[in-house]
Amino acid sequence: MSEPAGTRPRLLDLAPADAARELGPWLAQRGESAYRLDQIVPRLWQRPVARWSDATELPAALRAALEADWPLGRLTLAVRQESRDGTVKYLWRLEDGEAIESVLIPEGKRRTLCISSQAGCPLRCTFCATGTMGLHRNLAAWEIAAQVRELLLVPEPVKPTNVVFMGMGEPLLNWPAVGPALTILNDPRGLGIGARHITVSTVGILPGVAELARRPEQFRLAISLHAPTHEARLALMPIEKKYPLKDVVAAAARFKRRVTFEYVLIGGVNDRPEDVAALAQLARETGALVNLLPLHPGGAQGLARSPTRRMHGFAAALRRRGVEAVLRKSRGLDIAAACGQLRIAAEGAEVAAQPDGHVHQPGGVRHGAHAPTA
Ligand code: SAH
Repeated sequence: MSEPAGTRPRLLDLAPADAARELGPWLAQRGESAYRLDQIVPRLWQRPVARWSDATELPAALRAALEADWPLGRLTLAVRQESRDGTVKYLWRLEDGEAIESVLIPEGKRRTLCISSQAGCPLRCTFCATGTMGLHRNLAAWEIAAQVRELLLVPEPVKPTNVVFMGMGEPLLNWPAVGPALTILNDPRGLGIGARHITVSTVGILPGVAELARRPEQFRLAISLHAPTHEARLALMPIEKKYPLKDVVAAAARFKRRVTFEYVLIGGVNDRPEDVAALAQLARETGALVNLLPLHPGGAQGLARSPTRRMHGFAAALRRRGVEAVLRKSRGLDIAAACGQLRIAAEGAEVAAQPDGHVHQPGGVRHGAHAPTA
């Protein structure tokens, strides 16, 4: 007897090995031979189909049964915007009407996809557009990984080489879904993206950092630091109350691989000489690489990006202190490609008209937030 639909997990929520484990008995019950697994499982991620009826190597009756018992989830493309600089922003509509964003950033041979882990975000960092909307809900594992899958289903498919969790949401507040999504992204029977090309970005949710550290794969960790002292960080990031800077920096130092500190430069707020000295100290203690990011608009009013010369000066001062620092180039400014901006624009809120100048740094790439470092 087959189980009633609805009690089955979604195949796309499972690591490929677990999907195969679910399908095995189901195929057996239907009198199908086990080799069908080797036809079906690759259709989840490796050579994905939009619907089972497209898997024409399978008999029609089997395709219909898969459609009935194991429906595939889809994200619906609501908006696609391409920047003059080649950055592409996608707004995806979820089955319940929620919306999330991904951003594709081409740079040489690298195609980095910045993905969301939550619809909205509970953290309310002052400079962040997503923070203004609060948390709507966590994404399921399949909704996270499907941001890559959908790009394989469009008329001109794109396979990202790198994935960064720097879209909407805090990945380490959604570990039950982010954990399996990491497996799917990396597994050779999943999307097959190398672990060192997958970066989880966090404000420093310590239990989540510990979970990530326990994973055997070489996933990368980026910490959104943004201020070098407790007081200054508290003014920008409410999470500093719960997970203070010193504990976050200590966790970064213990992490088995080199971490990146993300640091959004805000004029007069965290770009002063004393900030350089304090940040350099923290980076040296932990051996972290520092990614400096021009502020994108969309967060609190009254915050301005650092002037371009000041940003270059800040980076140079860090380097003089022995810290590896990269000033990222803003990407996709003309398409509101920072965290949360597109959803907000699409839903009618105001997005400030733009920028005071792009920052150019060979080898660096950035959209409002988000850096491929791997
Ligand atoms: N919650 C996670 C991941 C999402 S944000 C985190 O905080 O790391 C990804 C990055 O974009 C973070 O470094 C975040 O601080 C940065 N960011 C958010 N708003 C920004 C803005 N307006 N300009 C530039 N970077 C921004």
